[in-house]
Amino acid sequence: MKINCDKCGKVIEQKAALVFSPPEKSDIVKGDAVTKFHVCGDCWILFYQWLEVENTTKAEVELHIMQLAAVSTASAQNTHTSVKDRIDKNNPYWTQAYGDVCVAIDREIAWRERAECAEAALRPLRKLMCVGIVEKGERH
Ligand SMILES: [Zn+2]
Repeated sequence: MKINCDKCGKVIEQKAALVFSPPEKSDIVKGDAVTKFHVCGDCWILFYQWLEVENTTKAEVELHIMQLAAVSTASAQNTHTSVKDRIDKNNPYWTQAYGDVCVAIDREIAWRERAECAEAALRPLRKLMCVGIVEKGERH
């Protein structure tokens, strides 16, 4: 029985490989199925190199997606309680952008607290101003 390489078409005479496709939803009754390819040694080497690049690229894309998600999460963590859930530089999802967002959020928290203090300090003064306006019947 002769088997040809499904990639180059040559008759396979030495050790070779079988390559399976990812599971495909091809049959509702039997479920997932895979496609089988016979691959000669030369084509296997090329295929393996392509596969390594392909898988590395997918992993890098997934990493970048998670890093962007981390930045988005950090931008919403703007309380003293929520910033405790931040990731540190050892986490693979930490990036310089993540660190920059954390610095900006810390600044936002500090300014918000200063604004709240200023509001509290002005409250008695506003009350006095309102009382004065009502008694004199003036409007500004
Ligand atoms: Zn081949």
